[in-house]
Amino acid sequence: MQPIRNIVVLTGAGVSAESGIATFRGPGGLWEGHRVEDVCTPEALRADPRLVHRFYDLRRAALADVAPNAAHVALAELERSWTGELLIVTQNVDDLHERAGTHRLLHMHGALRSALCAVCGTRVAHTGPLPPGSRCGACGGAALRPDIVFFGEIPYAMDRIVDAIGTCDLFVSIGTSGAVYPAAGFVEWANDRGAATLELNLERSAGSGRFDESRLGPASELVPAWVAELLAGQ
Ligand code: NAD
Repeated sequence: MQPIRNIVVLTGAGVSAESGIATFRGPGGLWEGHRVEDVCTPEALRADPRLVHRFYDLRRAALADVAPNAAHVALAELERSWTGELLIVTQNVDDLHERAGTHRLLHMHGALRSALCAVCGTRVAHTGPLPPGSRCGACGGAALRPDIVFFGEIPYAMDRIVDAIGTCDLFVSIGTSGAVYPAAGFVEWANDRGAATLELNLERSAGSGRFDESRLGPASELVPAWVAELLAGQ
């Protein structure tokens, strides 16, 4: 196996679960009591903007009551101490990675504390509620929406993600169900590149069979242990 220098880490809702943020597909397949189609699609935003904005207003407000857990903290420590390349790609829209101290981070599915202008595409930091019809400071259009990549929309920063996976020696997936594409396909890209692949998840996921190794358990235990192991061997 080639020596590990360049690492790409993909995180999903499972990394934030122990901070108290519900995962996507909890019991009943609902996210915080809503069907995904009712709050996570462009059609839903058009059909019922008040419901969709309110849903994300509540998720944004809930960030005030949560804190990074040991998994976020360990990944920030990895960034500080790893001498090779490292990129953390998160599917999460919470801000717990950055609050733990991670900087080399891409939010491929958007961010709760950001607003997107549906007219000019400007993205601005935003806290507090975002009522439908809020005005964009850049173009003046009454078109600010939650900066969330809905199903059917193209995730952010795909060119940078493709480049990073194309040059990585190790790809690690943490707390993700392997059900949402294109993220679920990253492990195949890493396998094609010849990188080692590791999954850390509470239970076996839809993609477990595609990883060289799967470790099962809570992220707050598995991630610090893996980071310690990696740094010890550096
Ligand atoms: P998912 O809910 O589909 O899957 C979560 C995975 O995490 C599951 O495989 C589960 O077994 C695992 N898991 C649960 N608790 C865990 C723990 N303590 N330790 C380790 N693993 C644990 O989430 P996903 O794969 O990220 O995909 C769904 C989409 O949901 C993403 O696009 C994301 O934008 C959105 N989402 C984000 C948040 C957030 O920002 N925190 C929360 C819910 C959903």
